[in-house]
Amino acid sequence: MEIPSFNRVTIDLKALQQNFRLLQKKSKEAAFLAMIKADAYGHGMLECAKALESAGCQIFGVAELREAILLRSSGIRGAIFAMIGFDSAAAPAFVDYDITPVVYDQLSMEALSAAAVQAKKEIQVHLKVDTGMSRLGISLSEIDTMLDAITQLPGLELGGIASHFPCADDTQSDVTETNFSLFEQFMEKTSAYPKIVYHIANSGGTLYFSHTSCDMVRCGISLYGYYPDGRTPDNPGELLPVMSFKTKVLQVKELPKGAGVSYGHTFVTKRQTKIAVLPVGYEDGYSRKLSNCGEVLIRGKRAPIRGRVCMNLCMVDVTEFEDVEAGDEVVLLGSQGNDSITADDLARLCGTISYEILCMIGNNNQRAFI
Ligand SMILES: *Cc1c(COP(=O)(O)O)cnc(C)c1O
Repeated sequence: MEIPSFNRVTIDLKALQQNFRLLQKKSKEAAFLAMIKADAYGHGMLECAKALESAGCQIFGVAELREAILLRSSGIRGAIFAMIGFDSAAAPAFVDYDITPVVYDQLSMEALSAAAVQAKKEIQVHLKVDTGMSRLGISLSEIDTMLDAITQLPGLELGGIASHFPCADDTQSDVTETNFSLFEQFMEKTSAYPKIVYHIANSGGTLYFSHTSCDMVRCGISLYGYYPDGRTPDNPGELLPVMSFKTKVLQVKELPKGAGVSYGHTFVTKRQTKIAVLPVGYEDGYSRKLSNCGEVLIRGKRAPIRGRVCMNLCMVDVTEFEDVEAGDEVVLLGSQGNDSITADDLARLCGTISYEILCMIGNNNQRAFI
């Protein structure tokens, strides 16, 4: 049995399924790939994959082959895309575990071809093209050479063309249109291939530039209940946050005026102050950047962080609270009473995005699934 920690991340699989259904509806005829890399953005890859599969999801995306094999070995039957490439030596695993490779160089295609021939099977590869992210993928000038290579290599079939948007979270930017026009040029160049699945849209593309959905969309952050630009939905309850993070009060103490709190005494009390000590620190993914600026919910009210967030502990001000005691529930992410703290709230304070907050909190705490 796992010995329980004070801190617990709760994953609401029903909310995840609801988000999936909503996004699937928004993406219309396009197929839906659920991005579950990074342990499903901190939400638990296997549990999320199973919940999504039972809601009807048939395509999954991870970063590395290792994650894909773990998924397949755990009984996921849908298509699994390994998005960022692989070591040539690992090529046979794509055949053995029926995993879809995303490729961008000739060497890995040769390795896949050899593996396919060996196993007397065909592998469908998706070719990654760079339309302005300047990350993985080939340029337009390389497409003909790559197509020739795929045609000549036995056992390989071109199953898809994939790209990725750098700015689709920004509805005001025209970069996405420029990227998409380039993608359309790749489409023209490959129009002779009958079975190609074209895909470029992430959550931003799916939600804000729906004409870019093509044959398949790849959604990550929106599945977990957040908008890629950190907006609060016009329609509350549209996408539902899936993760919450709770702890409990360890100790409550009275400090006199003039007391320094936590390392470096970056906070000094200006009055007699009641402090609650919490068993949460940066080791638990609760960033040190939240020092003197984060807030938590106790008894339905906001309590501000005082002083620096330590490795395993932090302190909050509960002077204004009538009665707070050791053992009281504390919400660090999620809702309590009528108030809530979102990953976007924490991200703004930390100078980052909800994605990183969810990964940090989710992947550093015990998770419970409901
Ligand atoms: C992470 C990722 C996505 C999903 O992006 P979101 O903004 O989370 O929807 C889609 N495609 C690729 C290649 C990715 O790396």
